[in-house]
Amino acid sequence: MGKAGIAVWRLSGPASGEILDRLSGGRPRPQARRATHRYLVTPEGALLDDGLVLWFPGPASATGEDMVELHLHGSLAVARALPPILSNLGARAAMPGEFTLRGFHHGKMSLLAVEGLAALLDSETEAQRRQAMRTLSGEGSAQVARWRAHLLRARAVLESAIDFPDEEDIPAQIAEEVRPALVALYGELQTALAEAKDARRLREGIEVAIIGPPNAGKSTLLNALLKEDRALVSSLPGTTRDIVSARLEIGGRVVEILDTAGIREATTDDIERAGVERSRDAAARADLVIACSPAGAPPPAIDTDAQILAVATKADEGRAASDPRLAISVHSGANWDRFLTAFTEAVLALGGGGLFAYERQRLLIGEAATAVERILAADLADPELLAEQVRAIGHTLDALTGKIGTEDILGEIFSAFCIGK
Ligand code: GDP
Repeated sequence: MGKAGIAVWRLSGPASGEILDRLSGGRPRPQARRATHRYLVTPEGALLDDGLVLWFPGPASATGEDMVELHLHGSLAVARALPPILSNLGARAAMPGEFTLRGFHHGKMSLLAVEGLAALLDSETEAQRRQAMRTLSGEGSAQVARWRAHLLRARAVLESAIDFPDEEDIPAQIAEEVRPALVALYGELQTALAEAKDARRLREGIEVAIIGPPNAGKSTLLNALLKEDRALVSSLPGTTRDIVSARLEIGGRVVEILDTAGIREATTDDIERAGVERSRDAAARADLVIACSPAGAPPPAIDTDAQILAVATKADEGRAASDPRLAISVHSGANWDRFLTAFTEAVLALGGGGLFAYERQRLLIGEAATAVERILAADLADPELLAEQVRAIGHTLDALTGKIGTEDILGEIFSAFCIGK
């Protein structure tokens, strides 16, 4: 609740139209989906506010039910006066995400689109918004429909084989006809899985760890990066021995940078040792590691599968010429632009396209891919068994779009929504 120019009130459910009639003080119900001016009145007949009202008869509404929108003044007094009136007329406050949930139950959106909406509401950067809109607008469901078409082809062949069980040469023929559909499906599932990691990085942010010995200039580097970005910066305080993290936007991507305690082989100080352990973990987990040490010094030894951007620091101290790495100095500004370009390129190389940005989606696609792989590895001799296996893969894909078996995960998804969505 707050002061605003306009406040939009949404009602959904079978009593919506009647509630609108009562609030309109007996004026006729507006034409469907037409913004119409109305004075709203209390049940006692006193004037409450005036504004635009909209009537969305179901099922052609966002929730699939009868819906009403009241565009009233964003006044605190109106906002306080209206809820008890609505509740007297039979309405109650919506749960977080309940409008979307009702829309989902009435087949207005797939579960993929719901997740796209959640991602859109969370999106901070342009790239995240675009990715979310692709899923929200149905690209994910269209992709799943193409996968289902491969299965349908396989099933059509199998069912005709089951209908004519006496023909001798059917098994070999089936194998020949079913295999291409399954091979195509397998390839597409694998592509989606490969992209899922990128998609998730785009949605959640790319983890970058700055690693190097103590006094390499890591904190100085992080602080200089924070100055580059004014949009997203939020840094967590910590001691010099601990990890400090900051979220910022690099090349339109959300990047989570971890500044870590210096990696040093032997240390006697317990607290410092714990810090070094954590920095090893951070390096192992990161998507990208900025590995630095002063120019002329050996680069830090790091054990990681992440991409590494090797940097020599303190280039102003005179030992940069002999160092093969990109030598930068935060103090003098030497090579700063080149460093930023290299960093941005490394970040952009990590978070690409890909539609399936949620772990739930990745797990189900992985499950389907494994099942197809298992079928392809066995000999496709028994058409009945094969038909059963193909059906099971169809169920996995239905779970992906939310057509079946989703009650347990719905709560988890919708609890992340805000009220009124
Ligand atoms: P960290 O322990 O790796 O985080 O290193 P710091 O960022 O705390 O820096 C250690 C010391 O190196 C500080 O005294 C910094 O002022 C200094 N330093 C950082 N960057 C530069 C640089 O570009 N040139 C020079 N000459 N000194 C630097």
